[in-house]
Amino acid sequence: MEGLVDSHTHVSVLPFDALENMALAGVRKIIGCSIFFGARHAETLFDHFEQMLTLCQQSAIQNGLKLFVAVGLHPLGTPEDWPRVVEALPTYLKRAGVIGLGEIGLHEGDKREQEVLREQLKIAKEYGVPVIIHTPPRQRELITGKALEIAAAIGIPPHKVVIDHANLDIINLIEEFGAIPGLTIRQDGLTPPILLEHLEHFWRGMLNSDYSNLKACDPLSVPRAVRYLENKGAPHEIVERIARYNAEELFGLS
Ligand SMILES: [Zn+2]
Repeated sequence: MEGLVDSHTHVSVLPFDALENMALAGVRKIIGCSIFFGARHAETLFDHFEQMLTLCQQSAIQNGLKLFVAVGLHPLGTPEDWPRVVEALPTYLKRAGVIGLGEIGLHEGDKREQEVLREQLKIAKEYGVPVIIHTPPRQRELITGKALEIAAAIGIPPHKVVIDHANLDIINLIEEFGAIPGLTIRQDGLTPPILLEHLEHFWRGMLNSDYSNLKACDPLSVPRAVRYLENKGAPHEIVERIARYNAEELFGLS
């Protein structure tokens, strides 16, 4: 199929040739989520956002890709002076190509992470933008539940919340809340066969690679998943939704 969207990458660590390969495999739009692992100063995040909105944008364009950016504080890269970043988020939301807040969320789920998430969700609600929320590898149900509790307390519209790295263990929580499952395709998580077998749970979601330098990643995981689903005869309308239209509609990618 045409016009694939990779709805969650960490584009500042995506090599130039990976962008080229993604374009050759049919990807046309990507979302770059913020993360600067171990950030110690608000300025580190500001520079990270700027880099995505300049160098990364240009590298994407050179490969025929459109890059959209989500700004925010990831729980693995929240500096001591994080309130300064929260305060600056509205300014970034006005920049061309910025489509929402992400990657935000809980990793350990402690009080500080909860506070940082709460403050960012308040901004998302006030400005009416979608959010991309991380889920951790451990204690997934407990910590996802906490994140959803915070989102509910803020009163953010559920259909603007992407709960990413969804899998069978948390899909019921996501559905009950009315959020959108982010479908990160990876060998030790949601694989194409699991996706195919449970499409009735995942059709509202959006495919992504979550490409980063934190673990083994495949920049082509979205086109590979699409090829797998097509080869196995998955309904075309569903493949189009999860590989393109769900993300385009939620984030207004044009
Ligand atoms: Zn990520």
